[in-house]
Amino acid sequence: MNVYDHPTFRMACEQFDLVADRLEIPPAQRDRLKYPKRSMTVALPIQLDSGEVKVFTGHRVQHHLTLGPTKGGLRYNPAVELGEVAALAMWMSWKCALTGLPYGGAKGGICCDPTAMSSRELERLTRRFTQEMIPFIGPQIDIMAPDMGTNEQTMAWMMDTYSMHVGHTVPSIVTGKPVGIGGSVGRREATGRGVAYLINRAMDTLGIAASQATAVVQGFGNVGSVTALSLAKYGVKVIAVSDIHGGIFNRSGLDLWELEKHIAAHRTVAGFPGAEPVTNEELLLIPCDILVPAALERQVTRENASRIRCRILAEAANGPTTPEADVILGNRPEIFILPDILCNAGGVVVSYFEWVQDLQSFFWTESEVVDKLFRILEGAFTQTLGLSRKQGITMRLAALSIGVGRVQEAKRMRGLFP
Ligand code: GLU
Repeated sequence: MNVYDHPTFRMACEQFDLVADRLEIPPAQRDRLKYPKRSMTVALPIQLDSGEVKVFTGHRVQHHLTLGPTKGGLRYNPAVELGEVAALAMWMSWKCALTGLPYGGAKGGICCDPTAMSSRELERLTRRFTQEMIPFIGPQIDIMAPDMGTNEQTMAWMMDTYSMHVGHTVPSIVTGKPVGIGGSVGRREATGRGVAYLINRAMDTLGIAASQATAVVQGFGNVGSVTALSLAKYGVKVIAVSDIHGGIFNRSGLDLWELEKHIAAHRTVAGFPGAEPVTNEELLLIPCDILVPAALERQVTRENASRIRCRILAEAANGPTTPEADVILGNRPEIFILPDILCNAGGVVVSYFEWVQDLQSFFWTESEVVDKLFRILEGAFTQTLGLSRKQGITMRLAALSIGVGRVQEAKRMRGLFP
């Protein structure tokens, strides 16, 4: 399957192979579990505001269809490639299985720079992509959601385009929509809130007092910013944050409410008064209790893994730690890892709630959503920690083993058709 060849896909396969060795999965079953079921790549010609026509490339990868429809985000980023999307789809499969959701994993991406496009251009691109995807998606086939570079507005355009095509309103075609058109309360905050909840559980496990703890957050998008604010509410001091324009650091703590105002005015954390500038690379090396990579994949690498100085590595991003870095971190038992498929699962869990509410046309209160979210995360955390301790394996290997094992078992129960 070298159509998916990409450093991130190789990384997801390496992680999978470690789990498959541990679970002693026979070779034929490995290939069935590992490779995406299907993918679609589309050319998206749209008219820019200048009048010029430009063709963008979009991908959607559906990893496995054994447990229900596929589920996963859509990202807009200049680095999007098919193999990267395939890796992210594979991680979605293990994440959904670990949290017990009735979904296979999927991911989509359009290679574009959303920060350099107008809202009209983004709308045309999103609608054209949705139109091209019509034979490939559906509320019982594949349900998209926001990811890097996309948001509630993107989902609203997708839902409108799909609904216009079928002739009636179909809110369950996407999740992460605005609440006014069938979105769920608490979806926007879900990923960051879940990350902070799990960090709090990890602090309990390690005996770290939140009021004494410091945190560093790489990436200040929806996930990073909500994580930082939620940690601050638990009493943690957030000392450094960053975005693509750079980072800011203040050992005595950043005023996150002032920072929000700065971002509203300047659209970046960079230049925030009362903090020193740091690069994204330097930020990862700042001594702290909690380090939260909440940006792109492959940030903790062979080069910096021996030099990060934290007690908890909370992977809010997908795939932030490379397998080489994992080997190094394996020899650093002082660092407790909350692996990505557990740490950032809050987003897809509340997406699942949104889909269920849309299918039933019956909507829940915020406290129902948050309560059910924490219950699912608590279960996944306890099971992962339990397996990790019982078998003396890393939290990542434990989480992946639970996820992969459940998909393997579902495939066994359903059998091979024909
Ligand atoms: N893009 C998010 C993730 O990586 C959410 C996916 C979803 O809600 O379907 O988990």
